[in-house]
Amino acid sequence: MHEFGIAEAVVDAVEQRAAGRRVRRARVRAGALLRIAPAAMDQAFCLAATGTVAEGATLDLVIEPVRLVCRGCGHSALCADPLTICGLCGGVDVDMEGGDSLVLESIQLDPDTTGEESYVPGNSGRDRGDPAGPA
Ligand SMILES: [Zn+2]
Repeated sequence: MHEFGIAEAVVDAVEQRAAGRRVRRARVRAGALLRIAPAAMDQAFCLAATGTVAEGATLDLVIEPVRLVCRGCGHSALCADPLTICGLCGGVDVDMEGGDSLVLESIQLDPDTTGEESYVPGNSGRDRGDPAGPA
């Protein structure tokens, strides 16, 4: 399960950006060439995040398509499946561009642990505000 190595890299990046604050969500963009299986990635992220600031956080995984360029006919197309052959001539001699990136796009910090505003003395009965809505 190579997703675990990727998940560890993601958690490392999340920890650096969070600087000790709790993280609720992490949005990651990964190229199609990494061949990440979303279900396996969720599981791997959950394991890798255990004991870190990202424990229990939700992973938003965005798969970035790869550009295929056919050497036979020159056809090019964006494709989420790197195994795909040329859609125009059916040729298998295709170049692939991009699709191997792994980028931590953003993290969402847990407002309950990120600042004084999450706890207002004398007003503990109100609902906790969450501008992003329920997770
Ligand atoms: Zn072609």
